[in-house]
Amino acid sequence: MKSLREYLAWAEEKQVAIGHFNVSDSEGFKAVTESAQELAVPVIIGVSEKERSFLGVAEIKVLVQAKKDQGEPIFLNADHTYSVEASKEAIDAHFDSVIIDGAEKPFFENVTMTKEVVNYARAKHPDMLVEGELGFIGSGSMFRDEIPEGVSEKTQTTPEDAKRFINETLVDLFAPSVGNIHGLVRSGEPKLNIQRIKDLAKVVTIPMVLHGASGNTDEEVLEAINAGIRIVHINTELRVAYKKGIEKGLSSDELAPYKFMAEGVAEMKKIVTAKLKLFNKL
Ligand SMILES: [Zn+2]
Repeated sequence: MKSLREYLAWAEEKQVAIGHFNVSDSEGFKAVTESAQELAVPVIIGVSEKERSFLGVAEIKVLVQAKKDQGEPIFLNADHTYSVEASKEAIDAHFDSVIIDGAEKPFFENVTMTKEVVNYARAKHPDMLVEGELGFIGSGSMFRDEIPEGVSEKTQTTPEDAKRFINETLVDLFAPSVGNIHGLVRSGEPKLNIQRIKDLAKVVTIPMVLHGASGNTDEEVLEAINAGIRIVHINTELRVAYKKGIEKGLSSDELAPYKFMAEGVAEMKKIVTAKLKLFNKL
């Protein structure tokens, strides 16, 4: 089976993006993997620090490995990891990739912690990919009344900083701030800065990752992919769909969890399938 690195080269060649969806439990895992299998496309399962503490690091690793053993291109990413220690835990567990998120820290500190994680990964599992983040985009996949504090056009990643960050850290994947925001902004999602993505793509030679794509329009996301984005993250929209689905499931007298939870899975699958079609241009 092709590795995540090889699939990213494939995505570059096809000018598509690989979908990254966060899950908190086996229902989320079922929804994401079934959707990807039905469309026969690769997919990345994302688990943030809190999501993996709920699921268990070893447990989610086993679930993903079971799919790999069946020949499915399902990959596992340790999403937003805020400490070197927690990154090392994901590296020890041999995930496919890990995101060390020092975006809220000063440039130098971000570089230092990112480098430490890159060095550890190279020594322990050289096939693992490390993603670095530069430019704060808010944290938490939730509803927001407004754009989070500290996020503005001024804090968007510049090509100069991107180049310097990548050269100094030697990360494999790069997540910039380009008008994207974690969570769904009730007062209206800001627009993605497509020109900035194009400018970054001129100097960034590693795959770029778009976080916080929930709430952005299909047209914008497609433009971002055409401008050079190779992984797109979706979390909040999936959480909204899941909650809506299980509320429907629980409103009947149904007692079997595999029946009332199935409503949640079905709602999540609608979102995942639509996003995967968009990202893969199907
Ligand atoms: Zn993110």
